[in-house]
Amino acid sequence: DIAMYHAKHEGRGRAEMYSDALALEASDRADLERDLLLALERDEFLLEFQPQIDIQTGRAVAAEALVRWAHPERDIVMPGVFVPVAEESGTIVALGDWVMSRVCETAARWSRAGIHQRIAINISTRELGQADFFLRLRHAIATHQVPNGMLELEITESLAMDMEARVLDQLAALRRDGLRIAIDDFGTGYSNLSRLKELPVDRVKIDRSLVRDIATSSEARTICSAVVGLIQGLGMEVVVEGIENQAQMDMLRVIGCTLFQGYHLAMPTGEQDYLGRYTGNPAMLERDAG
Ligand code: C2E
Ligand code: MG
Ligand code: MG
Ligand code: MG
Repeated sequence: DIAMYHAKHEGRGRAEMYSDALALEASDRADLERDLLLALERDEFLLEFQPQIDIQTGRAVAAEALVRWAHPERDIVMPGVFVPVAEESGTIVALGDWVMSRVCETAARWSRAGIHQRIAINISTRELGQADFFLRLRHAIATHQVPNGMLELEITESLAMDMEARVLDQLAALRRDGLRIAIDDFGTGYSNLSRLKELPVDRVKIDRSLVRDIATSSEARTICSAVVGLIQGLGMEVVVEGIENQAQMDMLRVIGCTLFQGYHLAMPTGEQDYLGRYTGNPAMLERDAG
């Protein structure tokens, strides 16, 4: 039971519960690959949601869905540990389907309850490389009858830069139907800036590595300010990720940022907690059967 699960872990230091993907021994990695498939069968994954807050209104405008694995023996395992392994082994396709379907079900339910906050889904390279990715996404949207305005796809910067024409066309079509597209982790890869303007993208999420030192380093400020100006100049929205203190936020506000996501504002949390805190609608929504 997810509510109990969250209650059980409340107050515990998260960092110490989770191990690091890089620290995994080869044998652990093989175990992990196998266990991921079992975990899907046993329905051990869950989603947390972290709000993106517009500080002009103080309200959440969207939620990013973040997958976790409620491992029966290891406690909660974070995606940094298993997503890279799932990507390598290909299990990410099935896991991605699970995430997609769960997000669609949730978004449809929120919409019916009058909660009009988009939910963002992280899409990995391997998923987007599947020929039938868009077919499966549209199928999930249709099955759960999700209004398109309720969904957003997050695609990492590096992936966005080498997308094929076929994928770009599909994304553009989804976008025409009202679904939003975001570039994730911007500032961690090499962007071809002239290409950026050709991408069918609504918003760009600036990676936390770019804003980490912004309160103390004038170079960091110069870079951030230029990046924000560029993105906004292309008519795209800026979301800043990984805000951990007020000083960072104050500085970014001066630069012209208003949309923030980070521990300073809100931790990722389970759905019921999210609804109570960030939607002004504490009603507990029953999940659809099935
Ligand atoms: P991401 O998409 O860049 O997600 C943001 C990550 O930063 C999340 O880590 C979030 O908890 C964390 N974060 C948020 N605010 C702060 C902050 O103020 N400080 C710091 N240090 N971190 C912050 P999380 O949940 O561990 O996810 C890590 C990555 O795993 C995600 O990075 C994403 O690339 C991947 N991921 C998560 N869920 C999914 C999923 O459903 N599908 C796929 N394909 N990848 C996922
Ligand atoms: Mg993301
Ligand atoms: Mg990111
Ligand atoms: Mg990422």
